[in-house]
Amino acid sequence: MSVYVSAELRRRIRAHFHDHCAYCLTPEALTVVIFEFEHILPRSLGGATSFENLCLSCPTCNRHKSDRTFGAGDEQTRMTALFHPHRDAWNDHFSWSEDATELIGLTPSGKATIDTLRMNRPQLIRVRRLWVAMGEHPPDLQ
Ligand SMILES: [Zn+2]
Repeated sequence: MSVYVSAELRRRIRAHFHDHCAYCLTPEALTVVIFEFEHILPRSLGGATSFENLCLSCPTCNRHKSDRTFGAGDEQTRMTALFHPHRDAWNDHFSWSEDATELIGLTPSGKATIDTLRMNRPQLIRVRRLWVAMGEHPPDLQ
């Protein structure tokens, strides 16, 4: 269900995430979809519509995340907290494969987030290949 997010809050969130998906780092400008304001802690679990609890998300990451805050880890880690776009540093949890088309999870949280949000879906890997050839990927947001 969509919720009202003020224009000022949307502007702040877009600026904070540089108009990229906070999870897979897809740049909105290279897609044909409008990115969404995702509640990191879902509203159904009491998450507020606030700067600290909203991130910019591509629609696909948002759909797969849904109201989840945990993902299935491996046998050792079991349920693992998903990457938190405000509290966690992206580079601590993820890196790019050598050809920059696949995300690699550096931590249990990064791995669980990649799996849960399907951040290496085949269509995305294919389009990342095109972006690499265009010199548009990987993004340099640091
Ligand atoms: Zn995404």
